[in-house]
Amino acid sequence: MNEVVVIGAGVVGLTTAVTLQEAGHRVRVLSAERPERTTSAAAGAVWYPFAVGPPEAVNRWARAARAWLLALARDVPEAGVDVITVRECADDARRPWWAEAIEGLRLVEGPQPSGARLAWEFEAPRAEPALHLGWLESRLERPIEIRRVDRLDDVPGDLVVNCTGIGARRLAGDTSLRALLGQTVLVEPGAVEPGKMYGDERDLSAMLYVISRRAEVVIGGCALPFDGDVIPQPDPALRAALLERARAAGFRHGRVLRDAVGLRPVRPEVRVERVGRIIHHYGHGGAGYTLARGSAEEVVSTLRR
Ligand SMILES: Cc1cc2nc3c(=O)[nH]c(=O)nc-3n(C[C@H](O)[C@H](O)[C@H](O)COP(=O)(O)OP(=O)(O)OC[C@H]3O[C@@H](n4cnc5c(N)ncnc54)[C@H](O)[C@@H]3O)c2cc1C
Repeated sequence: MNEVVVIGAGVVGLTTAVTLQEAGHRVRVLSAERPERTTSAAAGAVWYPFAVGPPEAVNRWARAARAWLLALARDVPEAGVDVITVRECADDARRPWWAEAIEGLRLVEGPQPSGARLAWEFEAPRAEPALHLGWLESRLERPIEIRRVDRLDDVPGDLVVNCTGIGARRLAGDTSLRALLGQTVLVEPGAVEPGKMYGDERDLSAMLYVISRRAEVVIGGCALPFDGDVIPQPDPALRAALLERARAAGFRHGRVLRDAVGLRPVRPEVRVERVGRIIHHYGHGGAGYTLARGSAEEVVSTLRR
């Protein structure tokens, strides 16, 4: 049995820690911030491969994570995962690159609320970040230790798993890692239909998604290149633009509750790589929830080699 130190308490770090524990390892989690102050806490948290690569590995991890999330939705209500029906707009009828990760994908023809003529529809797990991160934390055998790591070599333990998201740019000196800022506004449901997501990401400068949660609705979004690794304050002008986009598409939401901002850690490829006693596990882009369990299982098999 190894003593494994996981750095990071976002969805990737916590899922990795729980997966390692299930495989019989002794695990400690160190993190600069509590889970509720991470990018993972700001996510829409729907199963959907976005701004992430490479396709073959992503499809494999997304399929595995999807099966795990669907089982949680069925059996563990306190894990904060539900199954919703997603409608994702498309320009043409070519199957999306992530189609191999899912069964039951269907083409919907005809005008969509934001102007598209086609959309793909499918069932997908959707997490409530506060509940899901809290549930993952509750599964840890030892409390999260709040501590910033400045050098990976200084971290004790037989093995160290680096799950620092955008923080890996500095910690691992990885200049291929870039932040894509995302901001959403959380509203009361009003007249928005429950149990659904509507998404139109065809034009990233005017993207719209509307995601139903148990007691609120997420309106997003954006994907803006951002310099730095510190999550900024929400932009009020962006909030107004998001609400306007949703209203223009006919979503009659209720009262505004709060904003959420995060930095998606985007890289040409998600990094799952062992270098000595360090295993890098970061770069999940806009798909941390979509992939975490699948890539965490790969981390566990890396340790067996
Ligand atoms: C608006 C928005 C919507 C999104 N929607 C979705 C979606 O619908 N579906 C989906 O799958 N994904 C979505 N994402 C993407 C998803 O949020 C990310 O892929 C995911 O959060 C990355 O998780 P992570 O654990 O790698 O990083 P983070 O959540 O950023 O966690 C990194 C952790 O590392 C710690 N850390 C960093 N540096 C150090 C250091 N030096 N020392 C110690 N600790 C450190 C941090 O404190 C933190 O605990 C969305 C993102 C945004 C912003």
